Amino acid sequence: MSTDVSAVSTRRPQKRPNGQWKIDGTEPLNHNEEFKQADNGLNVRERIETIYSKQGFDSIDQDDLRGRFRWWGLYTQRRPGVPAGAHNSLPPEEVDDKYFMLRVRIDGGALSTEQLRVIGEISREFARDTADVTDRQNIQLHWVGVEDVPEIWRRLESVGLGTTEACGDTPRVILGSPVAGIAADEIIDPTPVIQEIAQLYIGDPELANLPRKYKSAITGHPSQDVVHEINDFALVGVVHPDHGPGYDLWVGGGLSTNARLAERLGVFVRQEEAAEVWHAVTQTFRDYGFRRLRNKARLKFLLAEWGPEKFRRIIEDEYLGRRLTDGPAPAAPDTPGDHVGVHRQKDGKFYIGITPTVGRVSGTLLVQLADLLEKHGSHRLRTTPHQKLVVLDIPEEEVEAASAALADLGLDPRPSVFRRSTIACTGIEFCKLAIVETKTTAARTIDALEERLADVADQMPVRLTLHINGCPNSCARIQTADIGLKGQLLPDGDGGTSPGFQVHLGGGLTFVDRDEAGLGRTVRGLKVTAEELVDYVELLVRRYLAGRQTGETFAR
Ligand code: SF4
Repeated sequence: MSTDVSAVSTRRPQKRPNGQWKIDGTEPLNHNEEFKQADNGLNVRERIETIYSKQGFDSIDQDDLRGRFRWWGLYTQRRPGVPAGAHNSLPPEEVDDKYFMLRVRIDGGALSTEQLRVIGEISREFARDTADVTDRQNIQLHWVGVEDVPEIWRRLESVGLGTTEACGDTPRVILGSPVAGIAADEIIDPTPVIQEIAQLYIGDPELANLPRKYKSAITGHPSQDVVHEINDFALVGVVHPDHGPGYDLWVGGGLSTNARLAERLGVFVRQEEAAEVWHAVTQTFRDYGFRRLRNKARLKFLLAEWGPEKFRRIIEDEYLGRRLTDGPAPAAPDTPGDHVGVHRQKDGKFYIGITPTVGRVSGTLLVQLADLLEKHGSHRLRTTPHQKLVVLDIPEEEVEAASAALADLGLDPRPSVFRRSTIACTGIEFCKLAIVETKTTAARTIDALEERLADVADQMPVRLTLHINGCPNSCARIQTADIGLKGQLLPDGDGGTSPGFQVHLGGGLTFVDRDEAGLGRTVRGLKVTAEELVDYVELLVRRYLAGRQTGETFAR
């Protein structure tokens, strides 16, 4: 038998398909892609209403439970007592509790006091009085039973809220400037764009099977207050010399595996075309995003392969059918963008940024806050991407009384730098992936640092960010903090382990005194146990205060 040697020797190895729909076809290459194609995640709502809520937790199909429920903001929470890291060794049914975390989607972080009260009452009635303000402007409740979900939806939707696509491989909540439409120094109000995107595209079945989660952020405030550099899609307010106020377009940011800051496409986006441009970028992600490996599926990997020029050309040629206008970069911000404290609005009233500690509140507190605001003449507030809140429309004569009452509720408008700038993820209390506890550790650390560093409180910088994660994922954005802490188990010297953290130092986004963003660096071998954490941060801060030159921030 003869062999065609030349054919064999010149054959190139076949490139493995990446699961890019427009290039490789839509054949699913893993189980996630299979279940998403088998039935759209949005369709699970009907089964929750008609079957699961009536027949209980044990009736839930496994692909619905661990997959499609997310399309409606529902994650199973960690079963109490399950050891750290058990999700790697135990079957999921031994890690999952029969209760859910429910994420209430708050596009732009915009809430009325009526909506806040409804969330608080739901928490008290159905979620054991739990509530966390997240670093993506949502509010999360815990201990929710599937039996109560339809009634929770009914109450949320009666005041214009919901949980549609709050999780899952979908367009997640759209971050928006917490001072949109009210700040005197705003470049452009993004509210109409956020509302248009939410109305047209959230819950659209055509966009409900993306390769992975898709995060958006839009601001028109010069402080660039929506952490735009770590979103898949972002618009940042800018003034074009010929066209006036509009937005600068950024794409492809994200943390977790292969952290990467977003890049500018050099495009100026007018207010009236912003929703259309969002749609074009989102469709590009849907059609070209990598679906074979979930840890390579975020938009940042596509941007890394294409580069910004090709990305821009594809959205212009294949989705918009026109050229976009070249645009300028936004100026570096000169304020921190967390809006903490008392500030005058453009209409003469005041907004007050307040600081629930690492976002942890309760249903009772939310109801009390709604009552307090209404008593002082305010009917609306905003959540922020820093696990904080901004209350709006306080009349000048009410500012002092409202500030004092807010402080009495534990929502201080004039907090220490640590209470102001610390965020923590969910951690081992509820998260199945967690290795260590986070929220209580963070709160305890803040209390202790306030006490120990009282003698140098007047020397503190305006912000000094401390971000705490319960595992290597980066829900609390550790790479973007002055001090970032990644949860892990450390040897305890007796053959066992104890909870601790890998330290990252010197990260930052567009904070005060910085003209460019940067990701923090892991300090090789530097780890602290949870026990040592207060000592470590105190030492670090004292050294920084003693050694800094004029104008030197913590990061540089
Ligand atoms: Fe859970 Fe880890 Fe995210 Fe924290 S960082 S919420 S522990 S996945």
